[in-house]
Amino acid sequence: MAGGDRGGGGLSVTAEGRLRVYVDDVPHDVWPWALVRDALTWHSEDALAGVRRGELTVVDQSGSPVGLDGQIAEGARLFLRGSAGETPEAGQAGGLPASADPEAEGEASAVADEGLSEEEVRDRIHAMPKTDLHVHLDGSLRPSTIVELADEHGISLPATDPEALGEYMFVKDARNLEDYLARFGVTLSVMQHSEAIERIAYELCEDAAAENVRYMEIRYSPILLTAERLPLPETVEAPLRGMRRAREEFGIDASLIICGIRNMEADVSRDLADLTIAYKNRGVVAFDLAGAEYNYPAKKHKNAFYMVRNANVNATIHAGEAYGPESIHQALHYCGAHRIGHGTRLYEGPDLMQFVNDHRIPLEICLTSNVQTRAVKDFASHPVRLYFDRGLVVSLNTDNRLMSGTTVTKEHLRAWKHLGFTLDEIAELVLNGFRSAFLHHAEKEALLAEVEPEIRRLAAT
Ligand SMILES: [Zn+2]
Repeated sequence: MAGGDRGGGGLSVTAEGRLRVYVDDVPHDVWPWALVRDALTWHSEDALAGVRRGELTVVDQSGSPVGLDGQIAEGARLFLRGSAGETPEAGQAGGLPASADPEAEGEASAVADEGLSEEEVRDRIHAMPKTDLHVHLDGSLRPSTIVELADEHGISLPATDPEALGEYMFVKDARNLEDYLARFGVTLSVMQHSEAIERIAYELCEDAAAENVRYMEIRYSPILLTAERLPLPETVEAPLRGMRRAREEFGIDASLIICGIRNMEADVSRDLADLTIAYKNRGVVAFDLAGAEYNYPAKKHKNAFYMVRNANVNATIHAGEAYGPESIHQALHYCGAHRIGHGTRLYEGPDLMQFVNDHRIPLEICLTSNVQTRAVKDFASHPVRLYFDRGLVVSLNTDNRLMSGTTVTKEHLRAWKHLGFTLDEIAELVLNGFRSAFLHHAEKEALLAEVEPEIRRLAAT
């Protein structure tokens, strides 16, 4: 550790390799390549949006205005001035105790579009054709369906009233990713029969279609659906039947991504890689690695990824959520991932971040889930703002509609509310979802041509 606390605020100690800067005398530890806007993002959810709206100006110690793209140096002192030339109240200062409760959003709002109410913005986002590229089948059940299925199969639940069960499943108290993952025991207990899996996939598509998701990639690990000896091919056929039915009824297109599990043996991943390849062009579009990231490196599963890529099938890997850039490095360079799930801590590795940007490797961002697993301390400090500003290909996704109590619409609204994304920028995030989809090129171009004018029209203010 270097530096120590020189800010007098007693808020944090400079981590190795970071610069200590101050915004309105509040110390923040930022990365050496950070720009003024990054320090503001870390400072408060209102600061950056206020500057963008022209209500606040950033000045240095001598009172000279500083641009958002300015580089910052160790010990830099920045001040926010209101339009009347006075220092406004320093919103929600960085370093306050973190809350993992995503409902604790507070009233503070980085409203990015002048003249539009939150309801109007929500309606616009809701109406936009959207994607959900990172959504777990076993994390996106309706509470009422869990109760009905448990009843049918004589399974006991932590609560039998759908509302109470929904409340229990919505994670508010996780200390880390492992705590968050513990809830999946409940959902998986009712996912061991064909009809149940088909129904769950169908209902997920129905719920997504209801908020105008046009294309979805649903992921799950078939091995976790075999506790009652369901044959592996049936664990794929069952959701595909539900998805087909939903396509006919609601017009939503969906594909499957099969997940290996980090903390299982490498030969399990190889079996699942085989299954993925067997269903290539039959509804399965990619292979993934999910589960506890800490202590379970991706490179242990590199043979499974080699098999998948060797068969010209896509790969995406959960990485940089509960572990740093080394994990993303392994996902990309040992396993050859074409997309990264989360990538929350990518910013800690500037060289790798540059590589990801240069190669247009999409990041599947899940804001609410990241707050819940404490991968970030709150919405306002999520690095998606930094990634977007640097030109990385980022899209917003739900991860787990049940455990995160979220929808694609809510995720985008949170980006508007807490990270200062304008509706135009939200349109880019939404388009990035379509651009990053594991669809064949011609299909993707056709879909983009269809949705882009609609998305742009809804973003126009
Ligand atoms: Zn996930």
